[in-house]
Amino acid sequence: MLARMTEPRALVRITRTRLADGRALTYYDDREPYVSGAATRTLDDPRDLSPSQALPTMRLDVLTGEWVVLAPHRMGRTHLPGTRGCPLCPSRDGAMTEIPARDYDVVVFDNRFPALGSPLHAAAAAVPPLVDGDPLWPQRQAIGRCEVVCFTSEHDSSCAGLTPSRAATVIEAWADRTRALSGADGVRQVFCFENRGAETGVTLHHPHGQIYAYPFVPPRTERLLARAAAHRDSTGADLLSDLLAAELRAGTRIVHRGAAWTAYVPAAARWPVEVHLVPHRAVPDLAALDSAERRELATLYPALLRRVDGFFADQGDPGPVPYVAGWHQAPVGPGRHLTRLHLQLFSVRRAAGKLKYLAGSESGVGVWLNDTTPERIAHRLRELT
Ligand SMILES: [Zn+2]
Repeated sequence: MLARMTEPRALVRITRTRLADGRALTYYDDREPYVSGAATRTLDDPRDLSPSQALPTMRLDVLTGEWVVLAPHRMGRTHLPGTRGCPLCPSRDGAMTEIPARDYDVVVFDNRFPALGSPLHAAAAAVPPLVDGDPLWPQRQAIGRCEVVCFTSEHDSSCAGLTPSRAATVIEAWADRTRALSGADGVRQVFCFENRGAETGVTLHHPHGQIYAYPFVPPRTERLLARAAAHRDSTGADLLSDLLAAELRAGTRIVHRGAAWTAYVPAAARWPVEVHLVPHRAVPDLAALDSAERRELATLYPALLRRVDGFFADQGDPGPVPYVAGWHQAPVGPGRHLTRLHLQLFSVRRAAGKLKYLAGSESGVGVWLNDTTPERIAHRLRELT
């Protein structure tokens, strides 16, 4: 399958296959001989893998109304292996990894240790609807999708180091998977994200992100939808469009203003480094971006990550800086019209060698304390052009 793109890369070839245990794997190729179809990714996975019997469950927290996912099988997952044991590098003779090919550009596959089980698991076992039979504790199978996105085959590279053409392929992969997962049974929100750095809980250093497809609307999105609905009721206007217009009007927290995208630090930033990136056009998700928006993003996104990496250089910390980059997309179904695509990029680092911990106030009662101001964060990010 060929997806037509404009500059900086004209075409990406999409090849879908299966791993030995039945998990889906998709190659997104932007180089010859694959992109033209002169060669194809036909390597089978020769490993002797039996399908996972893992069945994550989720329980409703009666005090908050939020679902908590229980996935005890993840306790034994691969943790910070060296380069030679990396499951995200291409396979070599005698060393098969999760990716059967000897090389790849961008690849997406089902996580071997998913926090949300696939529909295949759903048929395997039933879960009692109530924990201990008590109606206070509803319980379900946690059915959704957890996918891994490898941004590059180069183990020691980073998303910030991607060329615009390779970043464009990553965007194409995000858009393709968002489109596919949004159409899957039971999926309510598709979340593409990257945790970078051991400080964010990363268990593999290879440059990669993840895609979660949730069977419910996550709490942050629920609150956003409620706020947006209230704003619409009282003003008749769209909250996120009004927010972008207000940030552009104020100008004090703008980090970058492009033709199709603007990056700004939110007025109530909660992290010591935080920046949001929004398209000027109100689109629900990555799949809805047009070619001009994708082209600009392919340059802008790695550049924004490089600014974050340089944030503490003036304190003697050359980076890389740990971060979480999350693409908030409109939910599938009710409320979809109330919100729009935006990136939230933040770091848990508050100073060179120091981390922001979610302590009593944040973890206990959800009250955030920030040791800096959004205007200072924006000023520092603007300096790092
Ligand atoms: Zn690797």
